[in-house]
Amino acid sequence: MSTSAHSPAGPASSAADAAPSGGSVTDRLVEANTRYADKFSDPGMDARPVLRVAVVACMDARLDLHGALGLELGDCHTIRNAGGVVTDDVIRSLTISQRALGTRSVILIHHTNCGLESLTEDFRQELEREVGQRPVWAVEAYSDADQDVRQSMQRVRTSPFLLHTDDIRGFVFDVTTGLLREIQPAS
Ligand SMILES: [Zn+2]
Repeated sequence: MSTSAHSPAGPASSAADAAPSGGSVTDRLVEANTRYADKFSDPGMDARPVLRVAVVACMDARLDLHGALGLELGDCHTIRNAGGVVTDDVIRSLTISQRALGTRSVILIHHTNCGLESLTEDFRQELEREVGQRPVWAVEAYSDADQDVRQSMQRVRTSPFLLHTDDIRGFVFDVTTGLLREIQPAS
């Protein structure tokens, strides 16, 4: 998540730059897809990730996981949500990733300047007041990214559903330098 202003600078080949004028943003993306498919050839890959790793990360638009981690198509499973929080649904995906598709390692990535740092659980109360219904999910807001990474590692490590919990590592990505900083798990 991001609370900062959108940066106009982007890759020259992005959908925004190459799109014809007019149309919705989705129209632009679909147009970009036709150009992508023109150059695409079936790599003949299996669904099982080559590196046998699953990456859980925030959905933040500034975090390019493939670029930041040197990942190629087919290398990993990517599981993203607001904050990169290990929710029940992330555990669901990790369980399928390990038990059905052969991954063994888990990498957790939060980042600096995350939108979740500006929220509190009051967000749920405000939603309830506005729409008359409280969401079943927690906001999972946090003020200390390091501590939240440790909590996320602990949630993965203690899940009864996962087969492999011996290679779980957590990081904070700095959106200004592009560098990962590793977080040591709680002892
Ligand atoms: Zn974020």
